[in-house]
Amino acid sequence: MNAIRTSARRQKWKKRQRLALWGLVPLVLLVALLALRSPGSQGPEPAFAEASSGKSVKKGTPTELPVILAEDSTSAPAAPEEPDHVITYAIAQGDTLSSIFDRFNLGQQIMYQVLSADEPLLALDILRPGNLLTFRLNEDSRCLEEMELFIHAGNRVVYRRGDNGSFDYEEIVIPGDWEQQVLAGEINGSFYLSARNVGLSERETAIITDLFKDQLNFAREIRAGDRFQVVRSQQWVEGEFTGQSRIEGVRILRRSRLHSAFLFEDGNYYDHKGESLARAFRRYPMNGNYRVSSAFNPARRHPVTGRVAPHNGVDFAMPIGTPVLSTGDGVVTRVHNHPFAGKYIEIQHGGNYVTRYLHLDRILVRRGQSVARGERIALSGNTGRSTGPHLHFELHVKGRPVDPLRANIPMAAAVPQDKRRAFDQRVAALVQVMEHPEQQIAMRAEAAGSGDKTEM
Ligand SMILES: [Zn+2]
Repeated sequence: MNAIRTSARRQKWKKRQRLALWGLVPLVLLVALLALRSPGSQGPEPAFAEASSGKSVKKGTPTELPVILAEDSTSAPAAPEEPDHVITYAIAQGDTLSSIFDRFNLGQQIMYQVLSADEPLLALDILRPGNLLTFRLNEDSRCLEEMELFIHAGNRVVYRRGDNGSFDYEEIVIPGDWEQQVLAGEINGSFYLSARNVGLSERETAIITDLFKDQLNFAREIRAGDRFQVVRSQQWVEGEFTGQSRIEGVRILRRSRLHSAFLFEDGNYYDHKGESLARAFRRYPMNGNYRVSSAFNPARRHPVTGRVAPHNGVDFAMPIGTPVLSTGDGVVTRVHNHPFAGKYIEIQHGGNYVTRYLHLDRILVRRGQSVARGERIALSGNTGRSTGPHLHFELHVKGRPVDPLRANIPMAAAVPQDKRRAFDQRVAALVQVMEHPEQQIAMRAEAAGSGDKTEM
């Protein structure tokens, strides 16, 4: 289970402190050390934190400079002394991969090769402003050798030219540290506003509302004075918040009733009695039986390109025009036409499940639309790079593709008997945190003393 830790941030400070010290001439080092040792401070860490906020540093501040320099040099991937065969570009609103390739004269042909490598991942279809693209060119030919998409400190994808000239991808995922926080409040006005007021994001609020959709009408049944408690975790990698979060536990305390949801190790939410809150999924995205023409296979050789590329879904051979059904309740997050994946749809089901449907002929939903389990979302096709009419179907759990035919999908059941003890312990721990957030802080401080647990 995830530990409660804030050590990442402290480690970052320590790391930066070290970097700052290494980069300095001894004189500045001495002055900096003297300034950091402000009177009354308990140790190097708090003093350092104060120095960074600028409060305890005296005016004139030549001593503050090295610290800031160190921060800039470690956090910004775009270093100023970048060689000219490396280009780093921060994606802006309205950019397309095509416009970026044009801008740097990288060639549309090369872009298609990169898009081809991205087909199993489809990471390049959503270019978020602020994400970074780094291009490494061959110094002589100025041809693209490598492109990196930096999504956040815990997730980047590298597309690399292989021996045969085509590109492959490597996804680099760093789990980092998940830091817990308790966000609690009284409901005044709507739940939405009250939740936003205590610091929950729009997406987190939507996930919570969705969790209780079947048992609680937030518009009618919530009254002023009802209370809520949320345990949220945020991901930190090397001291940087990645923007990723998850809801670990929620309690809504109404006068008459308690509504609760706890995230368990299988990725599903259960109430405090261990009953599932997930609405059931269906296994197959269509009615009737169709032959599996290609199974889920993390090391498949691609039938068209011959490259080894993961097959992150399952293919069902079916005639063009066969109705495709959403396997669960959810919201359509993507409707795209990809040169290789063809017309495709992505659906988000609560916080932890995503499904994708590729090579479609006709799409019957739009982005942002809510769909129900079993709802007809498209007609199957043969678009994109495809060897024949089929539906390619993917299921992702907590951001990773899994075999849709074997995955343990939510069946709206209770926590299994042999997991019951572990679940009860988890509920007790989360409730303890909700009721005594002040103890949580003490635990964090303790945990922060332990070693570096960041793993790759
Ligand atoms: Zn496929």
